[in-house]
Amino acid sequence: MDGPMYSEMDVSRIDPEEALVDFETVEPGDISGEIDESLLKDYGAEDKVLVSIRIRPGDAPSVWQRTHKNIKLDPQCGKSPQEFMFDEILTGSENKPVYNAVARSHVCAAMEGYNAVIFAYGQTASGKTFTLSGDEDQLGIIPRAMKDIFAYIRRTPNREYLLRCSYLEIYNENIHDLLAPHSTSTTQPVQIHGTGPNVVLTPLREEVVTSLKSVREVLDRGEGNRRTATTDWNERSSRSHSVFRVVIESRERGSGGSSPDGRATPSGRQTPGFRPPTPGGSRLQARGGRSVQTSVLSLIDLAGSEKATSDKDRTREGKYINTSLLTLGSVIATLGENSAKNKNDHVPFRNSKLTRMLQPSLSGDARISVICTINPSKDAIPESTSTLLFAQRIKKVQLHAKKKEVVDTDALLERYRKEIEELRQRLSEREAEAPVRSRRLSAREQLDESRAMHDLNARIRQLTKLILTSQTVDENKGDETRPSSPAKVDFDMSPYQLQQELLAARREIETQSTQILSLEAAILARPVLPPDAPESEKDKLLAEQTKTIRELEIVVKGYEDNLGEPLRKVQEDVEREWAVKVEREVKLREEKEAWADELVKQLDKERKARMKLEEERQALAAFVQKFDALGLETTLPVPQTKLNPPLPMPGGAAAVFAERHKHRIHPLDAIIETESPIRLAPLSIEPSLLEEEWDGVEDMSFELEKAGKVMKLGSQSPVREVFGDKENTPP
Ligand code: ADP
Ligand code: MG
Repeated sequence: MDGPMYSEMDVSRIDPEEALVDFETVEPGDISGEIDESLLKDYGAEDKVLVSIRIRPGDAPSVWQRTHKNIKLDPQCGKSPQEFMFDEILTGSENKPVYNAVARSHVCAAMEGYNAVIFAYGQTASGKTFTLSGDEDQLGIIPRAMKDIFAYIRRTPNREYLLRCSYLEIYNENIHDLLAPHSTSTTQPVQIHGTGPNVVLTPLREEVVTSLKSVREVLDRGEGNRRTATTDWNERSSRSHSVFRVVIESRERGSGGSSPDGRATPSGRQTPGFRPPTPGGSRLQARGGRSVQTSVLSLIDLAGSEKATSDKDRTREGKYINTSLLTLGSVIATLGENSAKNKNDHVPFRNSKLTRMLQPSLSGDARISVICTINPSKDAIPESTSTLLFAQRIKKVQLHAKKKEVVDTDALLERYRKEIEELRQRLSEREAEAPVRSRRLSAREQLDESRAMHDLNARIRQLTKLILTSQTVDENKGDETRPSSPAKVDFDMSPYQLQQELLAARREIETQSTQILSLEAAILARPVLPPDAPESEKDKLLAEQTKTIRELEIVVKGYEDNLGEPLRKVQEDVEREWAVKVEREVKLREEKEAWADELVKQLDKERKARMKLEEERQALAAFVQKFDALGLETTLPVPQTKLNPPLPMPGGAAAVFAERHKHRIHPLDAIIETESPIRLAPLSIEPSLLEEEWDGVEDMSFELEKAGKVMKLGSQSPVREVFGDKENTPP
């Protein structure tokens, strides 16, 4: 079946404003003109499931006897004379009284804003499909309900409606979208997301209907897909559950709401910016303060009950156990028990697709009507008895369906948006100055700051959620006063949109987890005060907090002052350690300087001595020359005293000087080699006379010093040599 991807009624291509139905646009042929208003019973007033029995006509007389609302087995046919009591016992082939008795009140409730579910339960061939869908002559509950919906719209001139249908099948615990092309429904099976009241089915097609004709088109297409999907049609149809749903949205008709001269009413405003990309393609939008009321009507043709029983005798033929139906049985049993005995036992909703999908309705959020069909034949007595027992159990279930609160969404959204804008402004201001502030703030103040930021963020998130909630038609059940739809179905979401949503959600989770980490500390320090505490309490707490902050500041200041103490100690330690070293260095330096001074002094002293000696030497040399010139020779031994020095040797004093000079050592070389703090520049001075004669002078001074005492030195003494020369050399 290669039909177009999107039918003409594809919801994503329809402007909901174009698809509105009101009392003027309803075609007269689409309404059931046969309904007597006086026949309408208000079953919604009771907090009970409406449970009815329909006995199918048969060839033989029925084995079941009925008296008003009671039913019991013909005593001739069975030993158990148990009598059951239900809301309605129906017989015959007329579908109209059946609709009036068991469905009409629920359809009307759906039109008034309640969620409603109508089940057909019973063994295969007992008449479930005949009751729900009917045939050409006897329209079943579904087409009658649609007719009734249009009739309701026609007699409600002050409201306008948007109707959307979906049609799905649960087979072998797989959900098939009967309105999607077969190829699509197999590659993209419908998944149930969310838990509890927030159940979403995706991807699931939902189509807008504006007339009974379009409803028929949708139903026919669904049936066609259902048949082509299987080769063993009978088996599959008896084992699968089919669910037809109508989402009914309505709002009050505005002055210019749908008139040709303009859609927007004076106070109305389009809100494309805040319209979520998710379901919404053709959601009815609030206009000009007119809120949107939403409800869902679910019509469910269950699988044959015989295959679901756990009784071995019953399952002998069909080796197959229907998980969804079995779970439905235990869910209803538990719910009934809980209601009857005021218990709170765990209800196994999540054990099957059907119960998971219907959880919001079964939990009591919806008005429920169950039609149990039974086969009148003798063979079917066990099955029929089982069906009656199921019916009895479900009768115990307590419901709390409430009419959806009508919310002036537009006004609310406007208020939320304003608040969000203000909060965002405040948040960005705080964030902008955060780095500067945090440097000045104490630890405690920083905590308070981060807490304030967190509060702002939380409020923004909360408001954003509220906006989404309002616009996605009760996507999240915020409070108990607003019952949500039986299942949240994202009919318009493409896989791509889902992916985008998922990505965005992941990103948000990441950001939030980092936020959580940084805020946990703040939360620890958070004061315990309920949000609804009186202002005086809050003021008191605020004052206390301010006091605490001031005290903490003082403590922090003191701490910061004291923070220098250890550092100073360290400095002292270091200084003490280094003082010793420095002192030692200074002393060493002083010693070296003193030594240098001493050296300089000595040098000076010795220089003076050399000058003096030089003078003497020159005088002596002159004398020697004079003496040599005289050529005086004497053989007389002269005693070697200062007044009688040794006589000059041949060659004269000059030769002796020359010889000695050859072996001289520079006197300062020794000084330079020594370790001294005073570094003298290398000497490159031309040797002066004084220096040249250093050695000789030294010897002389030594000799002169001692001369007066012991004349122990020999001819090495220059003085003696001079005198010796003088004395030995004849003039
Ligand atoms: P189920 O859906 O429970 O398996 P069906 O609705 O298909 O059973 O009914 C089986 C057969 O019995 C169908 O041919 C149907 O037209 C017929 N049938 C069921 N209920 C009635 C009824 N109340 N009056 C006349 N025919 C009926
Ligand atoms: Mg059937």
